[in-house]
Amino acid sequence: MRAIIKEKPGRGATLVTKDVPKDLGPHDVLVKVYAASICGTDLHIYLWNKWAQEHIKPPQTMGHEFSGEVVAVGRDVSMVKIGDFVSSETHIPCGKCKQCRTGNMHVCQHLQILGVDRDGAFADYIKVPEIVLWKNDPSIPHIWASVQEPLGNAVHTIFTEDVTGKNVLVTGAGPIGLLAIEVLRTAGAAKIIVSEINEYRKNLAKEIGADVVIDPTKEDVVKRVKAETNGDGADVLIEMSGNERALNDGLAALTPAGRASLLGVYNSDVKINLNDLVIFKAIRIYGITGRKMFDTWYKVGDLLKNKKLDLSKVITHTFDFEDYEKGFKLMEEGKCGKIVLKL
Ligand code: NAD
Ligand code: ZN
Repeated sequence: MRAIIKEKPGRGATLVTKDVPKDLGPHDVLVKVYAASICGTDLHIYLWNKWAQEHIKPPQTMGHEFSGEVVAVGRDVSMVKIGDFVSSETHIPCGKCKQCRTGNMHVCQHLQILGVDRDGAFADYIKVPEIVLWKNDPSIPHIWASVQEPLGNAVHTIFTEDVTGKNVLVTGAGPIGLLAIEVLRTAGAAKIIVSEINEYRKNLAKEIGADVVIDPTKEDVVKRVKAETNGDGADVLIEMSGNERALNDGLAALTPAGRASLLGVYNSDVKINLNDLVIFKAIRIYGITGRKMFDTWYKVGDLLKNKKLDLSKVITHTFDFEDYEKGFKLMEEGKCGKIVLKL
C-alpha cells in the first residue's frame, strides 16, 4: 500500500510502499482510507519542530483525520462490520483508568494518539481499535467525514457552555477557528467577532459568516469588541490561536462574568494578569483538549447528517494523495482553510 511517512528526523515527508497491516488483534479493525485531512500536528511533524522531535519516533506513518470503509475485522469486533463507512476518534483511551471510568476518556492517563504514538491514516489502509471507530451516516461526503475530528475540537470548545444569543469572540481563524465560525452560526450566536492576522483567513472568516473581523496588527481588539457589544465586551471567548497576545486581548475583551474556552496550544509559558483579567472579573476559564468521547461525536455526526453545517467553504483545497507536498506548502504559508487528501 502507499503511505506518507516521517522516514527520518528532519524536514519533510516521504511517499513509500509498505505492507498492509495484517496482524489484527481481536478488537482491531482494518479500514480502507477514502480521504485524510492535514492537521496542524501533521505540519509540525513535517517541519520537524521541537514538539515533533520530542514526540515522534520515525519511521512512522503520519496523519490521523480520515474517513474510510471497514475491510477486515478482528475475531471479537462487534461494534462495526465490513462495509461500514467510518471515521475515528484519534485519542485511544485505555478504558481502565479513573478518567476512563468516570466519563473523562478524553483525558485518559494512558492515551495513545493515532499518527503520533502509532501509525496513522496517510495510507491506503489503517489499523484502528474498534473502541475509537465512529460510524458515519452514508449521506455525509467522504471529504467532510474526514474533518470531523477537528470539527469536534470546535464543537467541544463552543458547547462547553451556552452560546445561543451571545456575543462571541473567536481569536484565531486557522482551520479550527474557521470551523468554529460555522458551528457558532448554526448554534445561533448573536454576533460572531473574529480576530485574525492572516489576510487569506480574514477574508475566509468573513465569507463563512463572521459578523466582524478584526486585525490586531491594525486595530485595538478590546476597543473594537466593546464598540461592537454596546460597550459591554464579549460574553464568550473561544481562543483558537495559541498566541499569548490574542489570549490577553481576548480576556480583556470579555464582559465581567463571561467565560473563556481555550483550545489554542502555546509555544511557551504565557503571562496573564490574573487579578485584573480573571479574578476581579469573575471569568470562568475552561481548558479544552480533544473531544468528549463520545458526546462530541454524536453532536458532530448529527449536525452533519441533518445538514446543519456546511463545510464547503472551510475545506478550501482537496488534492490527490500523492500531491501531499502541495498541501503542506499551503499549510505552511497559511493560505488555506482545511486541506483534504483523496485516496
Ligand atoms: P493554526 O495555527 O493553523 O491557526 C491559528 C491561527 O491564529 C492562524 O491563522 C494565525 O494567523 C492566527 N493568529 C496568530 N496570532 C494571532 C493573534 N495575535 N490574533 C489573532 N489570530 C492570531 O491552528 P489550528 O489548526 O486552527 O488550531 C487552533 C489552535 O488549537 C492551535 O493553537 C492548535 O495547536 C490548537 N489545537 C488544540 C487542540 C487541543 O486538543 N487542545 C487540538 C487541535 C489544535
Ligand atoms: Zn484511561
